[in-house]
Amino acid sequence: MIKVCKFGGTSTADGMGFARIGRILGRDLERRYVVVSAPGKRYGGDAKVTDLLYASHRELIDGGHVRDAYAKVEVRFTGIVRELGLEFDIAGLLAETKDEIEAAREEAFTVSRGEYLAGRIMAAYLSVPFLDPRGAVRMDAEGKLLAEETDSLLRAALKGKDRAVIAGFYGADPSGMVRLFPRGGSDITGALVARAVSADLYENWTDVSGFLACDPRIVPGPVGIEQLSFRELRELSYLGADVLHSDAVFPVREAGIPIRILNTFRPDDGGTLILPAPSARPSERAVTGIAGKKNFTVIHLEKSLMNGEIGFAHRVLAVLKRRRISFEHIPSGIDAMSLVIDSAQLKNGALERLLEEIGAAVLPEKIYAIADVALIAVVGHGMSRNVGTSARLFQAIARAGVNVRMIDQGSSELNITVGVDHADYERTVRAVYDEFFGKRA
Ligand code: ADP
Ligand code: ASP
Ligand code: MG
Repeated sequence: MIKVCKFGGTSTADGMGFARIGRILGRDLERRYVVVSAPGKRYGGDAKVTDLLYASHRELIDGGHVRDAYAKVEVRFTGIVRELGLEFDIAGLLAETKDEIEAAREEAFTVSRGEYLAGRIMAAYLSVPFLDPRGAVRMDAEGKLLAEETDSLLRAALKGKDRAVIAGFYGADPSGMVRLFPRGGSDITGALVARAVSADLYENWTDVSGFLACDPRIVPGPVGIEQLSFRELRELSYLGADVLHSDAVFPVREAGIPIRILNTFRPDDGGTLILPAPSARPSERAVTGIAGKKNFTVIHLEKSLMNGEIGFAHRVLAVLKRRRISFEHIPSGIDAMSLVIDSAQLKNGALERLLEEIGAAVLPEKIYAIADVALIAVVGHGMSRNVGTSARLFQAIARAGVNVRMIDQGSSELNITVGVDHADYERTVRAVYDEFFGKRA
């Protein structure tokens, strides 16, 4: 058996974290390939190394040199090496890294050093080779992953290596320039490595004992999910259940490699097993999990006989394409259509221009935008087996006194998404959780 283990920033936050990882790996020799993230927060209010590096880049651009933020990064890594009692020239490596950062003046390069340094230290601590993903994870000039090329490069780089430590979160484009995955992207690196070594299992180690039925920051102590299918996972992580980055699913799904989410702080907990297909022994529950995210805008259009008007939707979508705006959902009725868009794309007058152009393109009777909408997705294969799931959902929301701004009952029978005002978000998630998972103690 080959296991690939990814340890997130919650697990690499300090020297004790590195030592804990060493013990976890020592307990199971099948854990051969290790992907690490930059050190995260050690306590509430602490800074993640990745955020400090973004700040370092701003210092560099503003003042010609990195300053206080980078000094904090140095303190973090020096502390880790000291706590481990490791013989490693961290001062030398940090000095070299600082020179490289100041010479390159590239944000992605600067930010990638968190994973690079964590990887170098981990490799030295475990006495296994370090693999720099700069030569093995390939993106195009726009930062988009080149999946096939990466697969063969990683395969070649790891061939003949019994064990290795690989830095997460970055790669390089064909010119050798460092490119980053989106935030949380070390999960993607872990999945790519798992596919490249044809792993039997991708273990994703974090600070919770697996996927919980909803965000623990909203509902304290939600029940854990023992098993999930890749499709359920994708739906949940896409809408903010950010235990695992949603793009991490693709490489392992293609290869049929299961993922297990595990807790570095409680390594004996079973965690969540994520399987390529829905389990043969489905759970009785109608709903597997609930996820949600804020900051969407809903643009609502009404026009009588819209349905019969050939090319109506096409003309609306053509405006979006021209403005290079992507949408999340387009629920529609006979005479109405809504567009759900990430609000970040509608800043600085972009919303007003979009409304104007759509208005001119399709001459609706009504067009207006609802800002500050939060989306909540209720996900589960069990929904198609359990009649009345949507009735229960909407009754629970109504009882909480919340006004629903948008409904999208996807065609997949796997997911119902509702939009509510930001102010109602937490209250709605709690009401839906209580309905499907029972009252909390
Ligand atoms: P890492 O640094 O290990 O990558 P992350 O912070 O990216 O860790 O992910 C773990 C965190 O995800 C948890 O600490 C928890 O607060 C949060 N989280 C959000 N939704 C869920 C959920 N449904 N189940 C479990 N954890 C969740
Ligand atoms: N260090 C990066 C971040 O903070 C990547 C990761 O942790 O997965 O987003
Ligand atoms: Mg993460």
